[in-house]
Amino acid sequence: MSYSILMIFAFVFGLMIGSFLNVCIYRIPLKKSIVNPPSGCPGCGERINFYDNIPIISYVILKGKCRHCRQPISLLYPFIELMTGLLSLAIFANSYPDYGKYLAFFIFVAALIVITFIDLSHQIIPDIISIPGIVAGFLVTVIFNIIYTYPITWLESILGIIVGGGILYAVAVGYEKLTGKSGMGGGDVKLLAMIGAWMGWRALPLIILISSLSGSIIGATALLLAGKGLRTRIPFGPFLVLGALIYLFFGTRIESYYFSLFM
Ligand SMILES: [Zn+2]
Repeated sequence: MSYSILMIFAFVFGLMIGSFLNVCIYRIPLKKSIVNPPSGCPGCGERINFYDNIPIISYVILKGKCRHCRQPISLLYPFIELMTGLLSLAIFANSYPDYGKYLAFFIFVAALIVITFIDLSHQIIPDIISIPGIVAGFLVTVIFNIIYTYPITWLESILGIIVGGGILYAVAVGYEKLTGKSGMGGGDVKLLAMIGAWMGWRALPLIILISSLSGSIIGATALLLAGKGLRTRIPFGPFLVLGALIYLFFGTRIESYYFSLFM
């Protein structure tokens, strides 16, 4: 099959998975099953027909409203579908012709998307995603290195889990000792351990740098805009995910540029 047809497949596959991720993001924090019952309208509870559940297209045809009760459907649904489709496409282009690497990293990124949007709306990172995510990341490096040469070895993965979890754990304990308040959540610790499991320990310094920089800039801006009365905690998880995604697509280029400055 030609490269461009495979690219279309990767995009459409991403859109479909994105539709499933919407279900996960909505149901996991409510501790509901992600397979049963089939999707219903949050407004009237009416079951959504398969022809009204086509990623993006259905949203456009229904003009963003439920067919039965006309209640508006959140723009977040088509946004997450499109985002998943585009990320699938980007990972495919980045890993081609290594299909195993594409599949592995697409599963990893899909989990990161679910974590990001749950953390943004509920300020939690569910253990039910991060802990199996740590195990899965390690197993992928073991199994894929038996089949062929995978970019990350199992040892780099183990060190990624220990270093990733350990650094944030130390920061959290230190912060609590200094201020007497708990700042960093345990969810963030497990998330960085998961990122370390999938990307290896070498990726962590740059990911931590990107996420703390972007987190401080956004945090300071929010503080300025909202004034001193800002009480809401800004979740750190989405910034760790941002760092992981930037590393995934540009990491080697950033590192080689950085090292070229000293050579
Ligand atoms: Zn409805």
